[in-house]
Amino acid sequence: MTNPRHDAIDGMKEADGMDEVDVLVVGSGGGGLVAALAAQARGLRTLVVEKSQYYGGSTVLSGGSIWIPNAPEILRHRAAESPDDLIAYLEAISDGTVSRERIRAVVEQGPRMLAFLERAGPHMRFEWRPDYPDYHPAAPGGSVVGRSVEALPFDRRELGDLDASMREPTLRTPRGMWIRSNDLHAFLGIRRSWKGKAMFLRLLARMVRAAITGARITTRGEALIGRLRLTTLDAGIPLVLETPLTQLVADDTGRVVGAHVEQQGRTRVVKVKHGVILASGGFDHDLPMRKQHQPVLTSDWSMGAPENTGDGIRAAGDRGAGVALLDDAWWMPAIPWGEGKLGLLLFERQIPGQFIVNGDGRRYTNEAGPYTDFVHDMIAGENAGVTHIPSWLIIDEQSWRTNMFAGHLPLPKIPWAPVLTGRTLPTAWTESGSVKKADSWAELADMIGVPADNLAGTVDRFNSFARQGRDLDFGRGDSAYDNYYGDPRLPNPNLREMTRGPYYAFKVIPSDLGTKGGVLTDENAQVIDVHGRPIPGLYATGNTSAAVTGHGYSGPGGTIGPAMTFGYVAAEHIASLAAGTSPSAP
Ligand SMILES: Cc1cc2nc3c(=O)[nH]c(=O)nc-3n(C[C@H](O)[C@H](O)[C@H](O)COP(=O)(O)OP(=O)(O)OC[C@H]3O[C@@H](n4cnc5c(N)ncnc54)[C@H](O)[C@@H]3O)c2cc1C
Repeated sequence: MTNPRHDAIDGMKEADGMDEVDVLVVGSGGGGLVAALAAQARGLRTLVVEKSQYYGGSTVLSGGSIWIPNAPEILRHRAAESPDDLIAYLEAISDGTVSRERIRAVVEQGPRMLAFLERAGPHMRFEWRPDYPDYHPAAPGGSVVGRSVEALPFDRRELGDLDASMREPTLRTPRGMWIRSNDLHAFLGIRRSWKGKAMFLRLLARMVRAAITGARITTRGEALIGRLRLTTLDAGIPLVLETPLTQLVADDTGRVVGAHVEQQGRTRVVKVKHGVILASGGFDHDLPMRKQHQPVLTSDWSMGAPENTGDGIRAAGDRGAGVALLDDAWWMPAIPWGEGKLGLLLFERQIPGQFIVNGDGRRYTNEAGPYTDFVHDMIAGENAGVTHIPSWLIIDEQSWRTNMFAGHLPLPKIPWAPVLTGRTLPTAWTESGSVKKADSWAELADMIGVPADNLAGTVDRFNSFARQGRDLDFGRGDSAYDNYYGDPRLPNPNLREMTRGPYYAFKVIPSDLGTKGGVLTDENAQVIDVHGRPIPGLYATGNTSAAVTGHGYSGPGGTIGPAMTFGYVAAEHIASLAAGTSPSAP
């Protein structure tokens, strides 16, 4: 097996003689690798430094969706959308907190960025994800057509020696069972549609094929980063692992002209001629910083890459950068399985026979809504003085037997299956203390410590809504987004009466996919100082920068799309300034 450190050593050799570069990219996630490709393509000698022994950051761990309306691959299937509609949508979900220029930049440059990647090499190929709605399809400019793409499945064997130094994903499927987002959507209907059953057979066939051929097909974030990494390799861009940025260097005018990086305990100075692009992720795992800005948190529950500890944000802050949105994150409700393991709750909240209660035994929001909105309401409830952390997601026996839930398949026990099956709760789940099972509502209330009368009232009210097909309290099921993973056979795909036990309660805490607050940037991805002036030579993208969607979340891929786009925008701006041409208006 290849030693993961080889990539670092090779990178160091390549990096020798590169103590002076045109562009320094900090971080090797989606934002960083796209920035590096774009800068190098414009003839700028580019170096990527990565703190971890693995490349890929949170982007590898992700679902790999990329929200880019009017992406070239989408336009091969349907007509272009009006940029004005897209701008209206982003303005609506960001509540007017983000400049129109920046929003216009992400709308107009996103498709150009993907067109650039498609030209950059044979590995950069994408497919459309039709019909997955925006997270707020009813907002002005919102849509249900599907505005995301994802990387085509990718065989990790193509990476050769670089395979061992790619971060391993946390969203694991059994060996050989690769699954795209669209496959997942079909597969979740396994107990109710022939399409779901056919997909199950197709997944099994993929496993068999992989066992025979040795193929290591991946999808989602892994496929995206694998493809980007091969393309940076082809472009001859050095990527140096285990080399964190520790400090930015500026000249007397305040222009950023270099950086200190650490390598094997020594500080190395990299002189930078044209620009530093910070793509070092958020402050996901800096718990003191999280608690300072998000005091509701008591533990490190982030699913982001472990090395994302806010280094880029702090380094830019030392150079006078302004910051915003530090109180927010790309929140995702999750089940704490213990030992740091988290089970994200995405489609589970759209199952019709399920609801979530706070410590008072009451529902408090639309469970099926976008994950970040859900946690916003959870935090608001906690801050209002009622226990919401943890909350409890409750399902009945029918939901347990008919839906995939937290990785458990609703199938009779299959011995030696590489996934959880069977009617009984997995032992590890019950041992974690995060799951309770009871035959009656009163017994369940007692087990999860909520008032039994309140829970009984919640059940009655929920069931009456289910009978009417309308959630009069929180509008669950009113949005096409809610319905996406619901049961299309029901009048309201997100509501079904829960009348027969046993009942199961799962502990829910506020996890996240990373933080969304960071340094202020303009439409060129240039970092803005506390006085509102661009800092020459300094750029930021992805979760190092404050999100272009403000406190909102546009749709599937709403973080990676802008991260890649502003990486590209930063490189283009640096290249234009270096060439002495005026940067093309975004
Ligand atoms: C389970 C999961 C699923 C997700 N699904 C999606 C999805 O489908 N679509 C979507 O849009 N978003 C998704 N996200 C969120 C998304 O992954 C991130 O928001 C996005 O990848 C951030 O990209 P980035 O380039 O800013 O940072 P990252 O990809 O995290 O890259 C940052 C890199 O910088 C490195 N670094 C940190 N500090 C330093 C330093 N001092 N010096 C050098 N390098 C440093 C890190 O090690 C890391 O490699 C998901 C996240 C998770 C965890």
